[in-house]
Amino acid sequence: KKFFEVKDLNVSIADKKVINGLNLSIDKGTISTIMGKNGIGKSTLAYAIMGHPQYKVSGEVFLDGVEILDLPVHKRAQQGIFLGFQHPIEVPGVTVVKFLQQSYKALKGQIDYTEFQKSLTKWMDFLGIDKSFLYRYLNEGFSGGEKKKLETLQLLLFNPKLAILDEPDSGLDVDALKVVGEGIKKAKENGTTVILITHYQKLLNFLEVDNVFVLNNGKIALQGDITLAEKIEKNGYDAVLANA
Ligand code: ADP
Ligand code: MG
Ligand code: MG
Repeated sequence: KKFFEVKDLNVSIADKKVINGLNLSIDKGTISTIMGKNGIGKSTLAYAIMGHPQYKVSGEVFLDGVEILDLPVHKRAQQGIFLGFQHPIEVPGVTVVKFLQQSYKALKGQIDYTEFQKSLTKWMDFLGIDKSFLYRYLNEGFSGGEKKKLETLQLLLFNPKLAILDEPDSGLDVDALKVVGEGIKKAKENGTTVILITHYQKLLNFLEVDNVFVLNNGKIALQGDITLAEKIEKNGYDAVLANA
């Protein structure tokens, strides 16, 4: 059995069927990318796997042998699924450090504050995030790059089995992109299997992506290696899908 497997997944939102009989399987320890046109359903797929209550979902999703589609969001997180948001939300009144502590505690069932602090300091240093961010409200007034770095900090701190990262590279300058890329690479070294949603070649090359999946008409329409992403970059989705 594959490490992560999606079988005949259907997802609807507001009476619109976005995902339609999708199948996908991924090996442990790999980095895969899901590409596809704007509005095709990449974020919807990510949300449905994480368990957002807004979507009507049927099918099966297995992580490490466990069927997760009937589990509430927090149980899916405890099973080891992490979602990095395309647009991280701002939560005024909740400090970053409080949010990270509470999330860590909820995920692991308990928290050793000494261990937590050690790990937090290590990964903040690794990503070059200033300590002052800990006492700011979650994402409030953060730049695009700062928000994506904080998502990457969570990825390293929580050390999930499977991370779905929704456009972690959107809106980043070259330097921030490098930091986020190094963070994802480190997460892989730490044992996290990664699914990356992106439009850009740069991160895919840097990470040496194993699988490229193209979402279209609610299904994985194409599957290949990095050369598939290169073809899309060169010719566009329509041409590559039409010639498949
Ligand atoms: P992508 O991430 O590939 O750009 P999305 O998953 O965000 O695409 O969106 C897929 C489709 O679902 C789009 O047509 C979008 O308008 C629609 N959609 C997403 N969220 C909602 C919602 N809350 N209400 C209605 N339609 C939605
Ligand atoms: Mg989009
Ligand atoms: Mg999206």
